[in-house]
Amino acid sequence: MAEDLIIIEDKPISFRTLGKTLPKLPKTKKWKFIVKVSEFSQFGFCPYTAWHFSHGTIPILRPKIEQARTVGKIVHDKLDREHEKKIAMLPKATEKTRLDRYKPLAFSRNLSVCLYHRPFLYLGKIDDVRREADGNFYITDDKTTKHLPDRPWPDQLLQVWAYCAGMASTYWRRYNARYLCWQIRYLDKVNREALGEYGGFYSRTRHETLLGSLENFEAIYQGNDSGFEVNPNKCKVCKFGDGCPFKARNQPTLLELGKFKPLDEF
Ligand code: SF4
Repeated sequence: MAEDLIIIEDKPISFRTLGKTLPKLPKTKKWKFIVKVSEFSQFGFCPYTAWHFSHGTIPILRPKIEQARTVGKIVHDKLDREHEKKIAMLPKATEKTRLDRYKPLAFSRNLSVCLYHRPFLYLGKIDDVRREADGNFYITDDKTTKHLPDRPWPDQLLQVWAYCAGMASTYWRRYNARYLCWQIRYLDKVNREALGEYGGFYSRTRHETLLGSLENFEAIYQGNDSGFEVNPNKCKVCKFGDGCPFKARNQPTLLELGKFKPLDEF
């Protein structure tokens, strides 16, 4: 719970202020691309994963991706059942409790959020969201691992920060809260016991980092190469490694490869 969090201090941005600064979701379909937050976040591992999510390598990898999703789903289903039992005891949100920022509220797991960043629409489902008596929303993403890492990985941070921005974008008119706090909760891969968690306020600095990453992700997704340096150690463990044209940075550039048509499914 919140009191066990390792808080990394930074000036928070209020939930309402953040919500107001984010572009409103257009009523008519004005976005050109729809991307899952979990796919965008892999930009934190390597910027060129963006290219793979928009171009032709995905079908070859689909069995691997589906397998990873199935494992993730089994873990999440168990957590979902436990969570639903817990929140069944809590009062349901009403008009009054929604607006009273100091009334604790729990939501069902997998709360859907969207974040519009023209011409992209990002969609995500948050593992766990709650408003606690301190008036803050706690946005939690669960990860399974063998060991608690020394610090969260960049892709995990981008994912949970995108959820924070999505929470504000989707719900700031409907719910009242002081600040958003992000949490990454690590569970043992085998027995699912909690190993520890990291977290902090969703601050202006983090929001700026997220916006910068969205812009760079979108450039590569649309076929514009910004010349990012590639870490060869990451290429060795990357699921895109076999067919990745960016692997050694001595391969053809995007310009030479031509712009491939993004897959309809994505
Ligand atoms: S193979 Fe290397 S360059 Fe290509 S996406 Fe993976 S980490 Fe990035």
